[in-house]
Amino acid sequence: MKLFDVYPLYDITPVSAKGVILKDDKGQEFLDLYGGHAVISIGHGHPHYIKRLKDQLDRIGFYSNAVQNPLQQELVQKLGSLSGCDDYQLFLCNSGAEANENALKLASFHTGKSRVIAFHNSFHGRTSAAVATTDNPAINAPINKQQKVTFLSFEDTLGLKQELEKDDVCAVILEAIQGVGGLDEPTTKFYHEVAELCKEHQVVLIADEVQSGFGRSGKFFAFQHHDIEPDIISIAKGMGNGFPVGGILIHPKIKASYGLLGTTFGGNHLACAATLAVLEVLEQEDLISNAGELGFYFKEMAMQIPQVKRVKGKGLMLGLEFDFEVAPLRKNLIYKQRIFTGGAKDKKVLRILPALNINKAHINNFFHALKQELP
Ligand code: PLP
Repeated sequence: MKLFDVYPLYDITPVSAKGVILKDDKGQEFLDLYGGHAVISIGHGHPHYIKRLKDQLDRIGFYSNAVQNPLQQELVQKLGSLSGCDDYQLFLCNSGAEANENALKLASFHTGKSRVIAFHNSFHGRTSAAVATTDNPAINAPINKQQKVTFLSFEDTLGLKQELEKDDVCAVILEAIQGVGGLDEPTTKFYHEVAELCKEHQVVLIADEVQSGFGRSGKFFAFQHHDIEPDIISIAKGMGNGFPVGGILIHPKIKASYGLLGTTFGGNHLACAATLAVLEVLEQEDLISNAGELGFYFKEMAMQIPQVKRVKGKGLMLGLEFDFEVAPLRKNLIYKQRIFTGGAKDKKVLRILPALNINKAHINNFFHALKQELP
């Protein structure tokens, strides 16, 4: 058998990692400013995380959702208090795509409608039923074949109003900071108008916080920079620091009933232990504040570099925009400077998504290396 070859790979084989440093099979060290697509939130191999997972594995790793799992209760308490969303309900699943699938399913059940409004350059995950709607099948793919998706531009309030007046829309889904797309954000004014229009037309507002959530933006959720109350919030990535886990937070106005949603693995004991460990470390080490403060420091440093046209994003969800495509620069940063960064759909944006416990020295190292590789 061979692997289904869908990923272009860098010729690097990491074998161990601690904090923000990765080591490969040749003993070379790399500074990880990408965290495997914003997944590594508390750093690789955090001792508290490892202990929590090992202790849990020694006891029980998995049993079904047909029996009591006290870890799920512990998790709702902790997540509710740290996120400030303690009146929401939590449904646990296993990935970002699955979280959004469930969010849209629930929006459709709740409204009896099925069309979805999303925004250009958004990314909400790949599902088995995804089909291409634009030049890039992997990016603007409908969440579900039955679920027609209409893409609008940020700030197009009139367009949104016209679509919602057709009375067939179940949900508006948006990222408060676009991840894969390239760090574009709606303004607070537009986000408020979206929320208002959704309320008026009884459409479910879904905040996709899969990439921006769990403290990455300097607040627990990126929508909290805009003082908005979404109906559903989807989460994954940094939630498990590498353990596959996802979920949706559901506003109390949407009521649960037996069998409405379900999953075999969602909320398993190990996933809960991983998520609890992440939340405990975020709290104990005050990492959300660190993300905010270091985000400002990063921006200050970036603005001193003439080739940087714009610094995008918030906290440690950042993008550097250049006036050239960044793929060769990324390659040089990896192979010559041994620093992992990310690309975006916008090919001129270099994405920076480090663990939330990096420090100023790591950022200084990055800028020192970047200057050497810039034209
Ligand atoms: N939503 C957003 C905003 C994402 O960035 C991603 C992944 O990059 C997803 C959903 C899909 O998550 P997953 O790859 O875990 O299915």
